[in-house]
Amino acid sequence: MTIDPSTAFRVKVEHGFSPNGKEPCLGGKLNEKAVWVDESICIGCKYCANVATNTFVIEPYMGRSRAIRQDGDSIEIIQEAIQTCPVSCIHWVAFEELDRLRAQLAEIEIQPLGMLPKTGKKLNP
Ligand code: SF4
Repeated sequence: MTIDPSTAFRVKVEHGFSPNGKEPCLGGKLNEKAVWVDESICIGCKYCANVATNTFVIEPYMGRSRAIRQDGDSIEIIQEAIQTCPVSCIHWVAFEELDRLRAQLAEIEIQPLGMLPKTGKKLNP
């Protein structure tokens, strides 16, 4: 199904209406889910970023993938990117889950890939 994006600008807005992504003009059921990368598991292989180029980028400091937008690629392309992930760390989640998942991730001390882990001890030769 092809959706004309300009439809969103022609739909009558009812008083008190707030979009939730489930509106037919926004993709209906197809857009009920958001894509999210569990960066604590990502190994930075870049496969997803090479498949869904408008959705995933490799965050430069941590060297791990991040979903930077939800409407950059088709559902099929994003699904293909998910299937290329060797560690299965890309998930479809409810939009309402995104803030909680980001907060959860922020609490974990994730090391940048390619750097030595922090041990808390100073190594003297
Ligand atoms: S495919 Fe998976 S492991 Fe590789 S960069 Fe993307 S999210 Fe990370």
